[in-house]
Amino acid sequence: MFLEPHFKGQRSGWIEVICGCMFSGKTEELIRRLKRAKIAALKVEVFKPRLDTRYDETSIVSHDTSSLLAIPVEDSSKLLRLGDDTTVVGIDEAQFFDDGLPEVCQQLAQRGIRVIAAGLDMDYRGMPFGVMPNLLAIAEYVTKVHAICVHCGNLATHSYRLAEGDSVVLLGEKEQYEPRCRSCYAQGNILRLV
Ligand SMILES: [Zn+2]
Repeated sequence: MFLEPHFKGQRSGWIEVICGCMFSGKTEELIRRLKRAKIAALKVEVFKPRLDTRYDETSIVSHDTSSLLAIPVEDSSKLLRLGDDTTVVGIDEAQFFDDGLPEVCQQLAQRGIRVIAAGLDMDYRGMPFGVMPNLLAIAEYVTKVHAICVHCGNLATHSYRLAEGDSVVLLGEKEQYEPRCRSCYAQGNILRLV
């Protein structure tokens, strides 16, 4: 369970990252933290990359249908145009942002803002995804969430792609992936080669 750090005196910002494979509940965890901040009457702004058009344009929707309004933006620099009273910034699908995102998060934290970013840590090849490694390195708090392996029931850390082809992620096509543990993921890739 993630506990909010508390601080004394001057307001201090920080960066939290929620990462994991597909179906691991990253967005649910992001929404949970943001809703709790809202209950505490903190001014919250939420962003996502514009290319995410899975559901409607403005909300981040998780599988349990709890949702929050998110502003779709073309690039990470747009995140710096915040209202003065914003104290919490949420970022969904962080892995799809441009390389500037870590520096933008640093600047926001420097301004005293709590930044909470959620994203895929690895792509379907098991490789670190886009800006995520850099974001994880500079974050004060990192939470790795897990799904359940559809084959063996162990904790799943990998997004196994059922479809053939080599584009990194097919957005809006979640049915083409399944969560797998390390062993079942490797097994699937071996079977694919033979
Ligand atoms: Zn497994």
